[in-house]
Amino acid sequence: MFEFVTGYVMGSRQAGKAAGMAGSAGAFAGETSRVLDVNERLDRLVIVVEAMWSLLEESGLTKEQLEERIEAMDAADGAADGRVQRQKLRCPNCDSVVVDGIGRCQICGTEVGEVSPFAGI
Ligand SMILES: [Zn+2]
Repeated sequence: MFEFVTGYVMGSRQAGKAAGMAGSAGAFAGETSRVLDVNERLDRLVIVVEAMWSLLEESGLTKEQLEERIEAMDAADGAADGRVQRQKLRCPNCDSVVVDGIGRCQICGTEVGEVSPFAGI
């Protein structure tokens, strides 16, 4: 549709340019969709973390304990930078990098251990 409209407006000599613009518009729409997906996942993650914290706080843990643990986990990857760098999981059989969250090598099928509850986040 976008290609038709822009081609009509710009004339037939510009049809190639219009097709390129349509491709760019499609890529932009795909990117927007991924951003929305990330936002939905982030919203879900925030709810899960807040629910977990409310349960832990009711069980007697303090905010100070939470802050200490956050700092320790942040520093565990070698850099206290507010990020977690996860190590790539490699297949013990074929040394392929294993896709996060499936628990087995996608190349040779070797099981690589339990799937983390945080896999794919
Ligand atoms: Zn493998």
